Amino acid sequence: MLKFTERGVYCPQADVYIDPWEPVERAIVTHGHSDHARRGMGRYLCHQHTALILRSRLGADIVIQELAYQQAVSINGVRISLHPAGHIIGSAQVRLAYKGEVWVVSGDYKCVNDGVSIPYEPVPCHHFVTESTFGLPIYRFPQPGAVFSEINGWWAQNAAEGTNTVLLGYALGKSQVILRHLDTSIGPIFLHGAVANANAVLASAGYQFPGDYLIPETGRQTVKGAAIVAPPSALNTSWLRKLMPYRIALCSGWMQLRGTRRRKGVDRGFVLSDHADWDQLNRAVIATGAGDVYVTHGYEGPFARWLRDQHGLQASEVHLRGAATVEDEL
Ligand SMILES: [Zn+2]
Ligand SMILES: [Zn+2]
Repeated sequence: MLKFTERGVYCPQADVYIDPWEPVERAIVTHGHSDHARRGMGRYLCHQHTALILRSRLGADIVIQELAYQQAVSINGVRISLHPAGHIIGSAQVRLAYKGEVWVVSGDYKCVNDGVSIPYEPVPCHHFVTESTFGLPIYRFPQPGAVFSEINGWWAQNAAEGTNTVLLGYALGKSQVILRHLDTSIGPIFLHGAVANANAVLASAGYQFPGDYLIPETGRQTVKGAAIVAPPSALNTSWLRKLMPYRIALCSGWMQLRGTRRRKGVDRGFVLSDHADWDQLNRAVIATGAGDVYVTHGYEGPFARWLRDQHGLQASEVHLRGAATVEDEL
């Protein structure tokens, strides 16, 4: 029912693409990250909270059909529904059913509850298209609760020494997860403009996060001992230099690799990801009950081979053009 084409994952029967990277008439968008949600589509179909993000990023005048999770639409006999992917607010797996055959396209996902997005739900299917950003056995992430304790402990220590704490995580997704778990009794929280903007969009869907937009006029004394949440693009900018003295940490799944922290020039790395690690990927694939798996978006080859050899599944690697995780992790 699905084909992997130059423009993206395509369903000919419904004439619809999923996360296409070139303009098409009808697009289903799994979530609001820029490598999945591109401009120029005739019509968009996405979760209602992703719709808010798309309008703010791609223009208020785009045509969107919004769906709640589990709600279905029928396009030329294909029943299409969206299911929680647990990646960021509004992120969805896409289920397509036609004449008894069921496909699920995961989009980006993770299987731990981040306290912000609706948790991932396995969706039974015959054919499962999975991402594999961290599809190697070296990627085994600690429990998020333990990581948040570490972050808060580090912040408290910095604050006690009169030093600011800068936490880097991409503006849409990671920042909100960090903000949700910061211990506000430690000190004030400030936000980079990109994070404040993302929060403002999400506020219209009822999401509230702590932190004040850090404006140039915000005094040094006010910021003293604060936690400041910013996207990784803030590294090596004059904006960041104004926050001296500070210690800075990057929050990312890649922080599990020794050397990444040093290469990025940060003091600390916290292993905090919006993608599934190796164990989650394996559990997710098995939980679908799919006998046929397509692996995209990461370590396609090794993970597909593993699924064939270890789980006896029919698994193929699919190299989707434009599947760079630019915004997702770093
Ligand atoms: Zn992605
Ligand atoms: Zn993403």
